[in-house]
Amino acid sequence: MGNKFDLIVIGGGSGGLAHAQRAAEYGVNTAIIESDRLGGTCVNVGCVPKKLMWYAGLHAHQLQQAENFGFNVSSDGHDWSAVKANRNTYISKLNGIYKNNLDKRGVTYLKGDGKFVDSHTVEVNGALYRTQRILIATGGVPRLPCISGSEHGITSDEFFELEERPKKVALVGSGYIAVELAGIFRALNSDVTLFVRKDGVLRKFDNVISEGLQNAMADSGIDLITGFNPCELREANSGLHLFAEDGRKYENFDAVVWAVGRNPNTEMLDLEAAGIERDQHGFISVNEWQETNVKNIFAVGDVTGRPALTPVAIAAGRRLADRLYKGMTDRRLDYEQIPTVIFTHPPIGTVGLTEDAARREFGEAVKVYQTRFTPMAYAFSENKVKSTMKLVVTGPEEKVIGCHVIGDGADEMMQGFAVAMRMGATKADFDDTIAIHPTSAEELVTMR
Ligand code: FAD
Ligand code: NDP
Repeated sequence: MGNKFDLIVIGGGSGGLAHAQRAAEYGVNTAIIESDRLGGTCVNVGCVPKKLMWYAGLHAHQLQQAENFGFNVSSDGHDWSAVKANRNTYISKLNGIYKNNLDKRGVTYLKGDGKFVDSHTVEVNGALYRTQRILIATGGVPRLPCISGSEHGITSDEFFELEERPKKVALVGSGYIAVELAGIFRALNSDVTLFVRKDGVLRKFDNVISEGLQNAMADSGIDLITGFNPCELREANSGLHLFAEDGRKYENFDAVVWAVGRNPNTEMLDLEAAGIERDQHGFISVNEWQETNVKNIFAVGDVTGRPALTPVAIAAGRRLADRLYKGMTDRRLDYEQIPTVIFTHPPIGTVGLTEDAARREFGEAVKVYQTRFTPMAYAFSENKVKSTMKLVVTGPEEKVIGCHVIGDGADEMMQGFAVAMRMGATKADFDDTIAIHPTSAEELVTMR
């Protein structure tokens, strides 16, 4: 193995692998450095194992419904360790596929921590590697609150290591991870309390999403505790006790999960050695071309503080390779209108502006179409999980600038609507599209 490359990528996760592979396809002599398992957060401790656990929760919900459709089902609980074992096998296979993909493209894989020596030299396991260009794609790590006893809690990383389901769980946080894990635990029958420091969950999303989810969580038996600023987590024989600044105290949890955001993963990099600047939150500052302040060094993905989603990291990495190595001079990622799904029960799909953001930007020109209904899947059920949909439109042509859905199927619905919105679809285009019946999605083209 030589010690000179055209490109070194630090971080073998979503963004780093995407960039390295695309560059290698263009004939660039590329190395990728990864200290842990190939695939990064998404594959090992993020999207993939989370979605598998979400499916476990989905099966639990569907088992409850099965009797209404004539099945004679008796359930003898859920074997957490069995699903964990299956998950691990599946992920090991993915790790192997990623390694093969690198080999097929001739990308050199260096296992270890990458550390800058200067702007053209990276050290791995004591060896020095010289390169023309460097991409930083080191992702993020879970944040722990700075309070006494926080080490007694776990984060999403350790959630995936749990050998058995904790019976009584507390989650602290109000974002993606808090609500997704709360939903999984509850679906699999844990006693779940969700602690948020403000007045609700998913506050950055449209109000139909945050309110809809809070209603669904309440119906499913999740306790939501608002205005709760944790100040201490104490371990006792009877379990974990969580204390708030205002004196409130909740006791005897088997597990407490911190889900209060993620920090950029730059600790091992020695960015100063290459003179790379960070913003005030520690994220690597990049411009619209993914360029850092150092001419030959670029960054993509979670470490840049842009929307922390796998397809965003992948798209930024691939587009950068297209621009640098394939002569596509204008190619870059447009960070507007990024669709996203939150894997709660029921799931959430959303793209574009919230109603509030649209009104701030376009004022009186904004109009909203909204519907709330019970999907047919619950026709025979007493527990009817409602769906809510909102379209935000603007101008006389009623261009659709926001689409927000909470309800069964929202996860699979949103991709196509995101394409339509990217192409500038108007409400009339939605209305002119023949509905697919009977589905929930048809409500999006029949709203008045
Ligand atoms: P990562 O995938 O984090 O990869 C960074 C890699 O760099 C890691 O493998 C790390 O080991 C390595 N590394 C770090 N420092 C060094 C170093 N000095 N030397 C060598 N290697 C180093 N996104 C979605 O789109 N959909 C989802 O459903 C979803 N679910 C998620 C669920 C959870 C619980 C979490 C935590 C995240 C989820 N995400 C989801 C977000 C998604 O995982 C991230 O946005 C994505 O992985 C970011 O990719 P990345 O390439 O920036 O970083
Ligand atoms: P998020 O940024 O989504 O949410 C964290 C929230 O926790 C904050 O917005 C804040 O909300 C609250 N918070 C912050 N500090 C504290 C504190 N000290 N005490 C109590 N609450 C606090 O972060 P997550 O960790 O949930 O997820 C990280 C990112 O990973 C997400 O933003 C997303 O991009 C990605 N992800 C994507 C998924 C998907 O695509 N389905 C799934 C999981 C993660 P508030 O201001 O309301 O208190």
